[in-house]
Amino acid sequence: MHRHSDNPEFESASDLLLETPITCPYCWESMDIVIDRSSAAAEYVEDCQVCCQPIVISFTTLADGLDIRVKREND
Ligand SMILES: [Zn+2]
Repeated sequence: MHRHSDNPEFESASDLLLETPITCPYCWESMDIVIDRSSAAAEYVEDCQVCCQPIVISFTTLADGLDIRVKREND
């Protein structure tokens, strides 16, 4: 991962990137993920930072925010 230590004024990359907390459906640990809102809806897989299992993350853009869902890959 790149650090921006030479630029302390570094601003959030884009309003399209939203950091949001989720709960792992395997180990129930809380963690933050970053959602790319450049598309209105998407589904993708991200490995849990704790148990390394594949979490299926899906989101839909709503008028007043995002509807974010997480589930196990085999559900
Ligand atoms: Zn986990």
